[in-house]
Amino acid sequence: MKISFFSTQPYDKHFFSTYNDSFGFQLEFFETQLNAQTVSLVENADAVCVFVNDRVDAAVIEQLAARNVRIIALRCAGFNNVDLEAARINNIHVCRVPAYSPEAVAEHTAAMVLTLNRKTHKAYNRVREQNFSLNGLLGFDLHGKTVGVIGTGNIGASFCRIMKGFGCRVIAFDVIANREVEASGVEYLPVIEVLQQSDIVSLHCPLNDQTKHIINSSTLAMMKKGAMLINTSRGGLIDTPAVIAALKKGQLGYLGIDVYEQEEKLFFRDLSADIIEDDTIQRLMSFPNVLVTAHQAFFTSEALTQIALVTLQNIQELATKSNLSSKAALLV
Ligand code: NAD
Repeated sequence: MKISFFSTQPYDKHFFSTYNDSFGFQLEFFETQLNAQTVSLVENADAVCVFVNDRVDAAVIEQLAARNVRIIALRCAGFNNVDLEAARINNIHVCRVPAYSPEAVAEHTAAMVLTLNRKTHKAYNRVREQNFSLNGLLGFDLHGKTVGVIGTGNIGASFCRIMKGFGCRVIAFDVIANREVEASGVEYLPVIEVLQQSDIVSLHCPLNDQTKHIINSSTLAMMKKGAMLINTSRGGLIDTPAVIAALKKGQLGYLGIDVYEQEEKLFFRDLSADIIEDDTIQRLMSFPNVLVTAHQAFFTSEALTQIALVTLQNIQELATKSNLSSKAALLV
């Protein structure tokens, strides 16, 4: 059984090759993203393994079906980049890794809150240049602040636990309340109230038709002046030009993003010697109160281990037509 991997980095090859020993699949790694231009690279593969920025639309799926690919294995939790209906029509199974390490993403979210607040990134550079002044590094106590969490699934629930540990009041909105989260003292409120009451808003819902640009000029206007917004979920949750306008007015006090709507042309690459044509990301990065990380929230060795093991197990179970161990892993 052959699996063609797209968008691979050295760490993908390392973790998948290590854990493939007990599965014995033939693995082929491509650095390029999967899209309509690159799908022709797939030859004699039974499965393709894709990541967050591979574009698995209907045209690509038809090409995969024509090449007898039977499985699309996402090595991530989100699946907004795959046309599930096209996969269904073409009899291709789609599986994912529903929860490889929610803590990895929740902890990175907390790191972004702390960095933006206490400016440790600036302090690090300052001290290295023998500048021991504290001017401009003033932060605020997290203890007693209100944190609003939108989406309390695996990652949102973990983030709620962390922020409660800091002594924050945690409020949340989700289309389905998580009873365990509620029992831990998190109050569910309508989304408008969460936005109005929070000092920090963190997004942990999936990207879909209901959540696209959930943060836009109207919802930004509902937020407390000077509040912090964190997005470690998917870039499309935020209307970026509206966020830039809110930052310019001071309506938004801090922005931390690990994801960006146009990230597929930028993230996971070293572009340090290139001219970036995307003026929006350049404008974002020019603000002193904006922190951008390049989709690294998942990036812990525990998460990469789980991603490799669960992805290979999903493919094995689908190939042998047995039931997937986790129902949530099978999308089509
Ligand atoms: P999950 O499915 O466990 O939780 C998502 C939650 O969002 C669910 O409770 C769901 O009911 C809720 N939800 C759905 N629609 C909603 C809406 N309209 N408003 C509010 N809540 C809504 O998913 P998860 O594992 O917690 O992951 C959340 C998201 O994080 C994923 O969709 C993915 O996009 C992103 N993610 C990012 C990284 C990263 O490295 N930055 C890594 C993993 C996942």
